[in-house]
Amino acid sequence: MIRKVVFLSMHTSPLDRPGVGDAGGMNVYVDEQAASLARRGIEVTVFTRRTDPSRAGVMATPAGYEVIHVEAGPVEPLPIPHLGDWVGEFATQVTEAVLDDGHRGPGTVILHSHYWLSGWTGLLVKQVTGFPLANSFHTLGRVKDATRRPGQPSEPLYRIAAEREVIARSDCVIASTEHEALELIERYGADPSRVCVNPPGIDLTLFRPGDRREARRRLGLDDAPTVLFVGRIQALKGLDVAVAAFGMVRDHLPDARMMVVGGPSGPSGIEEELEIRQLAARSGLERRLTWCGVQPHHRLPLYYQAADVLIVPSRSESFGLVAAEAQGVGLPVVAANVGGLRYVVEDGVSGFLVDGWEPPDYAKALLRVLDGAAYRDELIRGALAAGRRYGWEAATDRLLELYRGITDGSG
Ligand code: UDP
Repeated sequence: MIRKVVFLSMHTSPLDRPGVGDAGGMNVYVDEQAASLARRGIEVTVFTRRTDPSRAGVMATPAGYEVIHVEAGPVEPLPIPHLGDWVGEFATQVTEAVLDDGHRGPGTVILHSHYWLSGWTGLLVKQVTGFPLANSFHTLGRVKDATRRPGQPSEPLYRIAAEREVIARSDCVIASTEHEALELIERYGADPSRVCVNPPGIDLTLFRPGDRREARRRLGLDDAPTVLFVGRIQALKGLDVAVAAFGMVRDHLPDARMMVVGGPSGPSGIEEELEIRQLAARSGLERRLTWCGVQPHHRLPLYYQAADVLIVPSRSESFGLVAAEAQGVGLPVVAANVGGLRYVVEDGVSGFLVDGWEPPDYAKALLRVLDGAAYRDELIRGALAAGRRYGWEAATDRLLELYRGITDGSG
């Protein structure tokens, strides 16, 4: 029987605020998945690198799991390319902390690493402890490279090499959709028998329908058609496309408004935001474009409830939690026809999928949602039905099944 799950999340902590820097969907996933396992009576420890001196070495969370901050490298945030230097130290300390758990007996402890860096750590810990290792990538270098915006640098070779190694040597690779599973097999030569699919959940008690008028009142908004963008601001997320499309929407709906929730992320996030602000100013959009900054996760439902449509023009997305959350609230989504978004958004039912990244195509799809109340009501119903597919209980049932599949049969 599985008694303990060790999550490895070296580069970012579930205690970090999602929506800025390196914190996003993976942090939300690790936090909520750990909480869901803890509710089943399983002991969950999340190991993450210590970046904040004010955080204690070991912290018990109200959600029932524990976070251990490992001192590997300077106690400050470091850019991802620098973290490779500290993988060995991080893995050594994790191994020392979990080695004793082996006494619980075979098949009782699972390692589950998140992202390629932690996958690499996980391989080292597995080698010494013998615990089975599952890895979730959350994003894949080769997939990002396939659709990166022209002019953006390609993913470093060491990332791709580490991903290949993790795929070849972990006991199970967990993909969030069938599409990601296929990417693992086709782009990395993964063994299909060790690739499993398990979509993440969303907190359906948080992301549920609410009163739009009340949400707008609380945010100080009038009744104008409202487009919403939620995400970390970096080239990958396509905020440039969203703002250009919004400019075209305003040619038809001059009082339309757009809200941007999230903050800069990655090495050129600040530059990206600055350029988009300049683009908005040049196009005369400032008055109708509201920069809401990073919002605490629990406030996100308010923004989804206040909006008429969510735009997600990401260049790649292994799942796309924001699309699932919006649909949980009953908000139709206009998204790029890539990665996990193809599964989360049902084209013509819960919103629209758009091929490519041409702003006029997104503007057309946004207008289809914003124009015509009857059709919009249909899309709202479709979004609600699509959102309800992603509860945590089902995701956790399936995850435990996957874990049992890689223990020695005593699970
Ligand atoms: N998010 C948040 N506050 C913000 C912006 C984003 O809590 O200001 C959360 C959002 O609700 C979602 C996550 O960050 O749960 C983003 O996940 P997604 O899968 O869409 O993108 P990722 O960051 O993983 O690329």
